[in-house]
Order: sequence, then C-alpha cells, then structure tokens
Amino acid sequence: MFSRAVGGYNRVGGDGMSQQAARLYYHDSYRTTFEATVRACREVDGRWLVRLDETAFYPTSGGQPHDTGRLGAARVTDVFVDEGEVIHVVDRPMAVGERVAGEIDWVRRWDHMQQHCGQHILSASFVQTFGIDTVGFHLGETWVTVDLDAPDLSWESVAQAERLANQVVQEDRPVYARFVTDEVLAELPLRRSPKVDKDVRIVTIEGFDHNPCGGTHPRRTGEVGPIQVVKLERMRGGTRVTFVCGQRAVRLAQRWRDILRAAANRLSAAVEDVPLLIDRWADDLQRAQKEARAWQERWIDLRAASLAQESLAHAASLARAASLPSAKSLSRGESLSRGEPLSRGEPLSRGEPLSRGEPLSRGESLSRAAARSGTEGLGARPVEEALADGARPEDDASGFGRVCQAVLDLDSMDALRGLCQRTMAHLGKGAVCALTCDAGERVALVVMSDRAEIDAQAVVKSALAPFGGRGGGNARQAQGTAPRSGSTGAEAVAQAVSLVLSQRPG
Ligand SMILES: [Zn+2]
Repeated sequence: MFSRAVGGYNRVGGDGMSQQAARLYYHDSYRTTFEATVRACREVDGRWLVRLDETAFYPTSGGQPHDTGRLGAARVTDVFVDEGEVIHVVDRPMAVGERVAGEIDWVRRWDHMQQHCGQHILSASFVQTFGIDTVGFHLGETWVTVDLDAPDLSWESVAQAERLANQVVQEDRPVYARFVTDEVLAELPLRRSPKVDKDVRIVTIEGFDHNPCGGTHPRRTGEVGPIQVVKLERMRGGTRVTFVCGQRAVRLAQRWRDILRAAANRLSAAVEDVPLLIDRWADDLQRAQKEARAWQERWIDLRAASLAQESLAHAASLARAASLPSAKSLSRGESLSRGEPLSRGEPLSRGEPLSRGEPLSRGESLSRAAARSGTEGLGARPVEEALADGARPEDDASGFGRVCQAVLDLDSMDALRGLCQRTMAHLGKGAVCALTCDAGERVALVVMSDRAEIDAQAVVKSALAPFGGRGGGNARQAQGTAPRSGSTGAEAVAQAVSLVLSQRPG
C-alpha cells in the first residue's frame, strides 16, 4: 500500500526536486536537532509523507530501524527510503517551502547506535576467532540477531567470541565513519564487500575492523557497553545468534538476576546451587511419577477385579433366587423379572456396581440389596463359590449374565476406559461393562460389549440422547459424554444405560 502510494507521490512530485536530501547522520550520529525546508508533502490514508532538503532522521535500512521524533509540531512515526529519497511519515500536513525544526528521539537513536556498533564488534570477533562470516543482521525492538555462516556453533565457541568482543569494548577503541575513494577502498581489509558501487561508507573500529555500513555508530567502542549473547538457533544450515548490547544488556542482566533470585528463594538455596537443586527435584519428581503410575495401574487392576467379582456374584445370586421355587414370593421378585426397565431417576450410590435391571437406593450396598431380595450373603461371596453353587451367568438366558454397571468416582474418560477394559478382562467371555462418572462439566460414559446382541455404540447413543449427549465407537466399544447440569449426573446416565440394556431384544 505504502510503496504504491509513494509511487504516486513521486510522480506528482516530479517537479525538478530529484536532488536527494543531505543525510546529516552520515557525518554526525550524535546530532539530534536540525533545521530543514519542506520539499514535498503528500497525504496517504490520514498520514503525510514529507521530503526535506536535508535530514538527521535515520531511515530503516541495513538492518537498523528508523528514528522517531518531531518535525515542527508534527510527530515523525516512520522514516524510510524510496528510490533513494528519505521519506518522513508524519501525523499532520506541512507546507512546502516551510522551514521546520527537526528533533530526533535520542533514547531510541542511542540504543540503536549501541546495538549496531555491538553487532560490528561481535561479527568481527567471530571472523577473527573462528573465521566465521555474518550473512544476516536484524536489530529488533528487544533483541538483535546475526546469522552466522556456521552450521555447528557451540556455546563454548560463542563465549570465546563474546569475550573478545567485550575486550574490544573495554579497550575503548575509536570508531569512525568515512566515505572512501576507490583507491582507499582497494587497500582496506574489509570484513565484507560493499553493496553499493559508489559513495562507499566505511565504519572503522580502529585496529580491529573495517566494514561498509550506512548506520549510526558511537565515537568509541566503550560506549557500546556490555555485549551479551542470549540464544543460539540452527537456521538454514547456519546459526542465528541472538544478543543484546549496552543498556539492553544491563536491563537483561537485572531481569535474569531477579528471576534467579526468585528461584533461589523458592528453593531456599544460594543462586549458585539452583541448577543442582532443580536437577535433584526433577529426579525426585520422575521417580514419584513412576511410582504413582505403578500404584495407579495396581489400583485400576484391583478395582476392576472387585467390580467384576461383585457383578458376577450378584448375577449368580439373582440367577439362584430366580430358580428357587419360592422366588415368586420374594418381596422384590417382580423387579427381578427379565426385561423390566429401571425407573428413571432412581439414585445409585457412587462406586457401586449394579447388575442389569436391579435398582439400588442411594447408599445401599449390594449385600444388603441381596439380603432384601432373599439371597442373603451371596453378593459378598467370592465369585468362584457363587458359581460353584450352580449359577452360570454366562449361560443364563434370563439375562443375569456377565453385566457390570457402575457409577465411579473417577474424573476422566481415559481412566474410565482403562478400568472398563480391565473389568472386561476379569469378567471373561460374553461380558458387558458400562461405566460412568462425572468428569468436570460433563458426564462420561464407556460401554464395552462382548455379546452380539448388545451394540455398545447403540447403548451409548440411546443412553446419552435424553441428556443432549453424544458418543461414538463401534459395536464392541463406545464412549460418549453429556453436559452435566442439575438433572444430569453420572447416576442419571447409569439409570439410562440400565433402561437401554433392559429393553434390548433377545
Ligand atoms: Zn553496520
């Protein structure tokens, strides 16, 4: 947008003013005020592009960002070069021919001078220490980077170049910039060749470095201040080195010191001991996590075994009760008949397994329920014993088979699925397992089926649909969630699952 607008500017402004503005910063980086005449001014999208007869404003170029400041009453927000002309972007119109006072934001300029000269010193140090060339340079708001032509640069090598760079700073060598003739240019040992054919400007760090550059630099290396490398990155076959100089380096050192002090305080240790203590903490943590995982596995296994055993024993007790001559006289005999749906909304106690079609009231244990239905004690007996009594749940046509249904106090779908898998393994062939729990804002449900007539996916979908939930999977294994609101909880979902299972065909 800008370049197009600028093109328009140049066409309209093609009024014989092609003479380029004198760039005062070339000769004096410390100059912050100047007077100039407005040569042209054009509006583009509520901003004005201004050319002057001379300027001390540095335009974005050569890796160094532009200056900011004022031109009379106008604020200068951007400065760039277009077809060799320095263009100042200002926030109000200016009259052509008007004399204006320019003022550079010195804090910003000085920061750029420190960073840019620091880059020359550091780049030259890499050349002199390891023969490594700089192929890219960027001076950003916070960090400065150079791209080095070296694929494998170690921190030790970087530290060596960094030491030389800081030594050059401390030697406080003179820094000067000059335009040179071809003859002089031919004799200078340049760090890299110039990008322009004429008016080559060389920035020299006395006795250390000669480099073609149009940027702003301090008078002596001592003004650059500390040079500190902060990061190394592999970049397209080379290495990007991130660093800061001068006030930026001081501010960074202060910030890192504060971070280290906070870490040391947290560890109740000296700053020097922080890395060692973090190593120890990391080792301890890793060990503890490994132990926790092992205990979790063991816990899931035990819980699965217990769920399976209770379900099988309970099924056996129901089968036995149903086969007794006195079964019809049981107080709850009716509710044990096949295919009877559970009444919706009847609460279940948490963590308690429930065989199909058998409602429990809140807090009631399986053995008490069994006692109530006249099959005292069976629910608590080991499964082998219950089965030895003649109950064979896997063959039981009345549907008291290997069905495990439970509301659990877990909090994630993963845990629920893991437990369901283990429980299935304990239940053996022909098993069905439906587990549900409250997981955050939602209710989670997992159903696994090893029976052809029970489609796990269909159970999940039908059970969750009334609560606005959804699920997916296949006939053998499915899962889903429903939003957890006042009326929806793991217990309500468990009741819905019971209802679906009891209505299954066959
Ligand atoms: Zn430069």
